[in-house]
Amino acid sequence: MITIDKVSKHYGSFQVLTDCSTKVAKGEVVVVCGPSGSGKSTLIKCVNGLEPFQAGAITVDGISVGDPKTNLSKLRSRVGMVFQHFELFPHMSITDNLSIAQEKVLGRSKDEARAKGLKLLERVGLKAHAEKFPGQLSGGQQQRVAIARALCMDPICMLFDEPTSALDPEMINEVLDVMVELAQEGMTMMCVTHEMGFARKVANRVIFMDKGLIVEDDSKDAFFGAPHSERARQFLAKIL
Ligand code: ADP
Ligand code: MG
Repeated sequence: MITIDKVSKHYGSFQVLTDCSTKVAKGEVVVVCGPSGSGKSTLIKCVNGLEPFQAGAITVDGISVGDPKTNLSKLRSRVGMVFQHFELFPHMSITDNLSIAQEKVLGRSKDEARAKGLKLLERVGLKAHAEKFPGQLSGGQQQRVAIARALCMDPICMLFDEPTSALDPEMINEVLDVMVELAQEGMTMMCVTHEMGFARKVANRVIFMDKGLIVEDDSKDAFFGAPHSERARQFLAKIL
């Protein structure tokens, strides 16, 4: 579903990604971890064309992200993205937040978009909050709305960038539970997260990045059992 082939990226003279390669098969869950500044967010953003890269190739469902002929907005409409900060529209109700892209990008009718939004709100356990505004919900609830919003677009895969790292500890699990469910239903997912409990539960593979390099790309068991690199061992020792 996602192939990343020898991708390099620099900002001026600063090399942020060096020769990164990996693949995410349909239905696979890949967790990306590594120290702050190692290039995790940049790699994820390259996958749906939010950041350009100078070398290598990325394809999503066979579509080349770096090809200037590729319609990036069309591609992005099929790739769900959930960030650390939920980025809901504060002046719109939850239902309107869930409907707007369905109507504007997919051309669904208001009724159809609303029905789909309510169905997904129910799935994340928030149907009762449909008419509220984002500011009336907790951080964990807002992040679940953000996930529902992404799912409304019928994405072919989901990208997560530290979706729980801005949340109070008591709200982390309600978001992870939704992500675990999605994974178990077979969604293809690439998740930047340091929640190793989540990784242990549902990841097929774990990627460890350091200084713009993919240092480890292992099965979950190999990664948690005995990472190859000293850097990954030190990182795990710190966060577990
Ligand atoms: P991570 O998500 O692993 O913390 P990032 O992908 O956000 O890492 O950033 C990797 C490196 O690239 C960091 O050193 C960061 O300072 C640098 N960086 C990110 N965005 C920019 C930018 N727009 N211009 C220059 N440097 C950047
Ligand atoms: Mg980041």
